[in-house]
Amino acid sequence: MEYISYNSCLTEQSAQIESLILSRDQRKAYGFPVQIKSQVYVQPCQYSSRELFYTEYDTTRVCSRCQTVFEVEQDGYQRIWGDSPVCQVANHGMYNFHIHTQQSVEVLKTFQRAPKEDQWNHFMSRKLFALDVESVYTSHGQAVGRVTVVDQYGNVALDCFVKPKEMVYDYVTQYSGLTPEHLEYATETVESVRDKIFQFINRRSILVGHALNGDLKNLGIVHSEVIDTSVIFSNNGRRPSLRDLASRYLNWSIQNSANGHCSYEDSIASLNLVYFASENPHLLSPDFQKCSLSY
Ligand SMILES: [Zn+2]
Repeated sequence: MEYISYNSCLTEQSAQIESLILSRDQRKAYGFPVQIKSQVYVQPCQYSSRELFYTEYDTTRVCSRCQTVFEVEQDGYQRIWGDSPVCQVANHGMYNFHIHTQQSVEVLKTFQRAPKEDQWNHFMSRKLFALDVESVYTSHGQAVGRVTVVDQYGNVALDCFVKPKEMVYDYVTQYSGLTPEHLEYATETVESVRDKIFQFINRRSILVGHALNGDLKNLGIVHSEVIDTSVIFSNNGRRPSLRDLASRYLNWSIQNSANGHCSYEDSIASLNLVYFASENPHLLSPDFQKCSLSY
């Protein structure tokens, strides 16, 4: 699990890795936050019919579990009345609340970019950092519960629990690996974690992840140098799961635990998949095979 196949002396591998960076059009198409003039936009993925953001007076949300359109209070709060189930999915139990991943459109104004490259931080440029976020569901939607960032050698640069601002309704432990105990004494907020990330990356650092668009959206980060293993290995637009890719190409078994995903394990897996991709461009989506022609 600790295996990292990166050899920093291999400039050829560096060139192959650079060719995996998403273009601006790809970032837009795959739902990454992008800045156009002074505004930040996140385009819904073409495979999602769900609106990502709601405006001030819009009190309807779409449940990500049962797909029902439901109403929240004027303050965005989903109140729970009694124990009668309102949300139900076959074989997934019954719940007295819905869950959703939508955010206020106002949040887009708070998105930030990493510091510009300068004489003090230029050593961060072109370095790889793999990032993974685990999320929980609150009274107001999805929120960050844990963030892990590892450097290009797999060393942990940051791994911390994040306290959501709103009341947590569902820890989705089977996916997030998070429990009430994890977040009870957490002192970090999304803003403080983002500031910490910006202490060791600059605008030219390369962020690696799997379905990284959702992680950056939840962290409120706009970044242009990104490699996404769910995009570079996509097949006819379908984005494979990290678990399948790790099993097929790394022979690693991840996300098998009943205790849910682990953002450290997932970030290490996506980092190694990038190194694997750089050595096996013929296995990538056609858009990313062009690099193999020049060698
Ligand atoms: Zn529901």
